[in-house]
Amino acid sequence: AKDAGGNRYALADPDSDARAIDRHSLTNHLPGALERDEFFLEYQPLIRMSDGQVDGAEALVRWKHPVHGRLGPDRFIPLAEHTGLIVPLGRWVLEQAVSHACTWAGGQPLRVNVNLSPRQLHHPDLVPDTIAVLESAGVAPSSLCLEVTESALISADEDELKPLWQLAELGVDIALDDFGTGYSNLANLRRLPATTLKLDRSFTQGLQRHPADPVDLTFVEGIVSLAHALGLAVTVEGVETESQADQLRQLGCDTAQGWYYARPAPPGEFARDWARAG
Ligand code: C2E
Ligand code: CA
Ligand code: CA
Ligand code: CA
Repeated sequence: AKDAGGNRYALADPDSDARAIDRHSLTNHLPGALERDEFFLEYQPLIRMSDGQVDGAEALVRWKHPVHGRLGPDRFIPLAEHTGLIVPLGRWVLEQAVSHACTWAGGQPLRVNVNLSPRQLHHPDLVPDTIAVLESAGVAPSSLCLEVTESALISADEDELKPLWQLAELGVDIALDDFGTGYSNLANLRRLPATTLKLDRSFTQGLQRHPADPVDLTFVEGIVSLAHALGLAVTVEGVETESQADQLRQLGCDTAQGWYYARPAPPGEFARDWARAG
């Protein structure tokens, strides 16, 4: 059945079938999905551009839907955010990611990046929950990076930013995700406790053209120098080719993530490929 009235989710990615999934099927199954243990995480390595070594991993959640099979987060995170399930789901993701990270300690512990939704940011339990998860796993706050989108913070006032500042003071890294998309207010950077900018995939894509899009080149160059001047690191997303990687390294980006290095993979596979002891 094809999209008839706009009340269906159109599917166009390899995470799900070419069939349309109606919203009711997602809405009905989502509330119990956590108890039924239907979520799982995959990890994608973050690669240090100076030496090509792995620097950490981003945790990405997936849903093994009882009817529709594997679904990517774009299918259900907005719904979880809307219904509030994102709060317990987000805590589950944090617990899982931190406990997986413990098993990766080879030569030195790998950092793990966890995405935070706006609703989690505004939840009063964020700081105590995060501290509790780190303490019970015995993981240093500096081994955790929380990723928040700039758009989630744009309208936040000082009080709303306090939890993030508290976490940053404990040593948790804060990354601004999807940086450069939508409404970017550079002056805003100074009031955020960010340690890293994650440059959105769209800029990486612009570099793939021949010649590279001059606007994207200039933008990346400008962002990197501004970020470094402010003491922030720059991570680039969506690196798919060697040419993109070379250009981004030359432009001074610190860390890269993308299919060129690795696709997101289940914890066992990730550990085997990227977290060998030694
Ligand atoms: P994001 O945080 O921007 O994550 C990066 C997305 O880019 C991931 O999509 C990843 O699989 C994809 N990606 C990585 N390398 C490449 C590449 O080289 N090319 C291309 N085309 N894509 C690449 P994914 O896993 O589908 O996640 C989509 C979004 O869902 C994430 O975007 C994030 O906003 C959200 N998300 C994922 N996990 C969580 C979670 O645990 N909590 C919350 N709140 N949101 C999550
Ligand atoms: Ca992210
Ligand atoms: Ca992103
Ligand atoms: Ca994104």
